[in-house]
Amino acid sequence: MNDDIERVLYSQEDIAAAVRRLGKQLSNDYRDKKPLVVCVLTGAVLFMSDIIRQMDIYLDIDFVDVSSYKGGTASTGKVELIRDLDSDVSGRDIIFVEDIIDTGRTLQFLEDLVSDRGANSIKVCTIFDKPEGRVVSAKADYVGFNVPNEFIVGYGLDYKGFYRNLPYIGILKPSIYSA
Ligand code: 5GP
Ligand code: MG
Ligand code: MG
Repeated sequence: MNDDIERVLYSQEDIAAAVRRLGKQLSNDYRDKKPLVVCVLTGAVLFMSDIIRQMDIYLDIDFVDVSSYKGGTASTGKVELIRDLDSDVSGRDIIFVEDIIDTGRTLQFLEDLVSDRGANSIKVCTIFDKPEGRVVSAKADYVGFNVPNEFIVGYGLDYKGFYRNLPYIGILKPSIYSA
């Protein structure tokens, strides 16, 4: 699996440092708010489990699953709700935990969902942001790394379901896509 990687963009240590920084910021900003931290499945599971352990405050967690990519490298433009939240979000301070913001469509969809249900505040924490990929105006409030407009894998991010378990972030060899 490691042989499929052409280049490492962020090491395990780079990621850990960013997660600590974001966790500290969130702890300060949400000290007395008891936020509901929502993991956007599946890509954000690794980041979710790391970031909440860097937050020394009262919080509870939930999960939501949406799909827009269908396993390839390009967005289809349509966002579908695959698994809804269990929690009542009305009056809650919501923090979405995302793997990466690209077109912004996923984020826009999720923000609309909880805003329609009466959330008190909605913020987004993403480990990776691809500002060049935006087609709708969605903004992340807490960002680990701004990444170039390339397809990355690892730390939760997949190509055709694989590579999520890589502890670092890399770019695949072109031969993998043509295979
Ligand atoms: P958006 O709705 O912002 O376009 O899509 C965000 C989702 O697209 C992410 O949660 C992720 O599943 C997928 N995605 C966007 N860019 C990349 C990338 O560079 N690599 C991988 N593996 N997935 C990506
Ligand atoms: Mg995602
Ligand atoms: Mg994917």
